[in-house]
Order: sequence, then C-alpha cells, then structure tokens
Amino acid sequence: DGSALDLKSFIRDIPDFPKPGILFRDITPLLASPPAFKESIRRLCEPFADSKVDAIVAAEARGFIFAAPMAVQLGAAFVPVRKPGKLPFDTHSFHYELEYGSDTLEIHVDGLKSGQRVLVVDDLLATGGTVGACCRLIERTGATVVGCAFAIELVALGGVKTLAPYSSFSLLKY
Ligand code: IMP
Repeated sequence: DGSALDLKSFIRDIPDFPKPGILFRDITPLLASPPAFKESIRRLCEPFADSKVDAIVAAEARGFIFAAPMAVQLGAAFVPVRKPGKLPFDTHSFHYELEYGSDTLEIHVDGLKSGQRVLVVDDLLATGGTVGACCRLIERTGATVVGCAFAIELVALGGVKTLAPYSSFSLLKY
C-alpha cells in the first residue's frame, strides 16, 4: 500500500508562473504517478468516511481531477461548478471579486437538493475565493456544506480563515 509515500515529493515547484514572483505548485507529476494519485485520493477521503457525504462539488478545471475519484470512493454524487455559459440547464450564478478583477461561477439549480450534505473539493487553497464562491452557490440550493478538502494549501494566504466557519482539510501544506 502507499501509506508510506511522501506525496510532497510529487509536487513540482515552478517559479514565475503564471506571472513573475509567483511560485506555482504543479500537481501534474502526482497525477502521472498511479500509486501517488491513488494514495492522494485515499488520504483526502479518509477524514470524511463517516461524514455521510451525499455530494461532492468542485469548480473547473483542476478541482474536477480530485473531486471525481473522491465521489466514487465516498459513494457520493459529483456536481460540477463551471464558468458562465458552460452548464446547459438553468443555473444559480455567483459573482465575486478577486485581487485583480472578478469572476463568476455557476451551478445547476437542480444539482443539489435541500438538506443534502456536501463536501467541496479543489486542488489548491490559496485565498479561498474559488471555494468560498462554491459554498455560496451550495447555500443557494438549500444544501449543507459539511467541509472543504484540498490537495494543497498555501497557508500564508489565509484561505482557511476566509472559509470559516466551514472546516478545511488539506493534504499538503506549504
Ligand atoms: P483561491 O481562489 O485564491 O483560493 O485560488 C485557488 C485556485 O487557484 C485553485 O482553483 C487553483 O487551481 C488555482 N491556483 C492558485 N495557485 C495555484 C498554484 O500554485 N498551483 C495550482 N493551482 C493554483
């Protein structure tokens, strides 16, 4: 089994991407290693085994990568959050401000049912803007956020505080 794997050794640091001064944490080496990817999914699901998760919500694009196998493992639905105009049915829309500019995310109005227990997943937690927007969309459906899970957390950016009172679990912290 992969319980002894050092998963941080599968994250590649890329300086000055996508802009000068940014150190990008690249998950593609982890995804390219079947034992490391499998172990990541196992460790991400472990804290939620008894949480009675009905659905996992994730935003495109990298969030989908971890969220879909977690949904299968936890026996939960997978519900996508997407950029405007991508979802074919009626949507709830949430507009939010970023450090530079703003963004909008959408979810199908019938993607979740009132009272369902939802886990929000993303590859990486930075400021918490993306997953915070997902939480607002989930609240509009009447479903309940039971927590947020990330492969990577950039601790200094304070995303855990931004997402409070929702609880956050991160596999790897930098
Ligand atoms: P936040 O909304 O500020 O928390 O930023 C998180 C989002 O930005 C995630 O959806 C990530 O995919 C993306 N992101 C920000 N920094 C990185 C990075 O260093 N590596 C990979 N993705 C990143």
